[in-house]
Amino acid sequence: MNDLHALLIGAGIGGLTAALALQKAGFRASVYEQAPELGEIGAGVTITPNACHALNYLLGEELVEHICHVPASGAIKHYATGATLIDTERGDGPKRRYGAHYCQVHRADLHEALVAAVSTNDPQALHIGKRFSALEESTTDVTAKFTDGHSATGDVLVGCDGINSAVREALWGADEPRFTGYVAWRGLTPTAALDPAYLIPDSAAFAGRGRTFTRYKVRQGDLYNFVAFTRRDEWTAEGWSERAQISEILSEFEDFAPEVQAILRATPPEQCFKWGLFDRSPLDRWTRGRATLLGDAGHPMTPFLAQGAAMAIEDGMILARAVAAAGDWPEALERYEAARRERGTFVMLESHVNAKRIYNRDPDHLSRNSHKSAEALGLYDYNPLTAPV
Ligand SMILES: Cc1cc2nc3c(=O)[nH]c(=O)nc-3n(C[C@H](O)[C@H](O)[C@H](O)COP(=O)(O)OP(=O)(O)OC[C@H]3O[C@@H](n4cnc5c(N)ncnc54)[C@H](O)[C@@H]3O)c2cc1C
Repeated sequence: MNDLHALLIGAGIGGLTAALALQKAGFRASVYEQAPELGEIGAGVTITPNACHALNYLLGEELVEHICHVPASGAIKHYATGATLIDTERGDGPKRRYGAHYCQVHRADLHEALVAAVSTNDPQALHIGKRFSALEESTTDVTAKFTDGHSATGDVLVGCDGINSAVREALWGADEPRFTGYVAWRGLTPTAALDPAYLIPDSAAFAGRGRTFTRYKVRQGDLYNFVAFTRRDEWTAEGWSERAQISEILSEFEDFAPEVQAILRATPPEQCFKWGLFDRSPLDRWTRGRATLLGDAGHPMTPFLAQGAAMAIEDGMILARAVAAAGDWPEALERYEAARRERGTFVMLESHVNAKRIYNRDPDHLSRNSHKSAEALGLYDYNPLTAPV
């Protein structure tokens, strides 16, 4: 097992976390990314304590605290009046309770930190422009084939290739992702362009009927990330994301509080994007032979618990611990799936339930009891450094 070589397909947050965790446990990991360049989209991501444990271990707490912003305070506000409906304790509270921060980060900053750490450990680990197309397994190894005609051979293969996973299709056949009926807008706004009076508390979610708007700081507070959700009957754009017009989102949210309007008006047009949100049914198995799934490839989820990246990070950490604990590769993949599939599937399904909870509620009567967060579901209690594998 000491010389196990893992082929990881996809260099998103999941694939890179898995690579780094495997390297730290003493194993060889090679990552194959379809894109011609490594990078992440221009948007923020919330890292909850359950995932922050793994990042602290893998990247070091100092770096995590440098790239991530810990919101001093948070609130759920009334969409129109901006009045605080629920205070959400932030700052050092989550760290005191769970041992790791609740924080937010620009995806590109997290991605860059993971890429740097993986490449420092092994300059040959990352391969770009490699689009996985098929796998072949023998009694001694597994081979990934890429559309450019190249191939790579290792002991196990992990599909970290996102919701549209080609590895998932190779293992379990094709199934079309479904449009969930929700659309997300994301944008980044320079904090300097905003009236500080509009930015209290540090992070806030505005709850409307059928619509929400969340804003939080990234990049040492220099930028505000916003993510806004509405419902749609269908998604007609060709891709799953497209550049959005500020005027379109302004008209969608025209009855929201003045601070929401101010953020939207201050957003540079090239910094606003729109996503159709898609999902798939849970799988009964992830692992087949020498190959398995990780992150959105195994459990694509809507963002209504802000846990997709967190689950991918947890998966990566647990995969490495399962490999380290096992006597051979079948045992490693079995232990990994046994530790992760139930939790990944639970969070995936609960994200749907939460969407219904959020979008059917009456903001005028919102209370702590009607609000079910990832924390209230107990998701922050999990620590991938110590959870059983
Ligand atoms: C609006 C929105 C807000 C969100 N907010 C949060 C949040 O606050 N917190 C949170 O935890 N999660 C959040 N998520 C979810 C999170 O973004 C995803 O769950 C997470 O990025 C999944 O990571 P991944 O590495 O599994 O997949 P991806 O990030 O999709 O990475 C997959 C990688 O595989 C590559 N790839 C694809 N196909 C191939 C192939 N055939 N060959 C080689 N490479 C391939 C891709 O190019 C990509 O680099 C949000 C999602 C959305 C849509």
